[in-house]
Amino acid sequence: MPIDATQPYDDQNIFAKILRGEIPSKRVYEDQWAIAFHDIAPVAPIHILVIPTGRYVSWDDFSAKASAEEITGFVRAVGKVARDLGLVAPGYRLLANVGQHSGQEVPHLHVHLFGGQPLGPMLV
Ligand code: IMP
Repeated sequence: MPIDATQPYDDQNIFAKILRGEIPSKRVYEDQWAIAFHDIAPVAPIHILVIPTGRYVSWDDFSAKASAEEITGFVRAVGKVARDLGLVAPGYRLLANVGQHSGQEVPHLHVHLFGGQPLGPMLV
């Protein structure tokens, strides 16, 4: 069931548990502002999720409420993950689902990072 992006933040969501280390993940990056880990059901040879360390349901409340420091830190982390994985020259795709129509399932902001093969045209 897609989430309602206007809902309050739920500290029991699965990515909150991954952030706190309560359930395992295959982490590829972490700093003060973000962690990145492999998606459990990859749809590309490289499929990483980058999430902010702050409590944000989606891009909507992150863009509205996060501090300039948090936004800068998170955006820089997403770029660094892609660079560290060697994805800049071959190219990659970023995607963030927000709420019902997008099919967002997990109520903690996550940016999908896809790469490792030609990704084809954007699908909606
Ligand atoms: P959304 O549809 O944009 O919310 O994407 C949620 C993503 O989280 C999906 O691609 C899932 O495969 C992924 N996912 C769900 N649970 C886990 C987990 O425990 N570890 C890693 N990825 C997960």
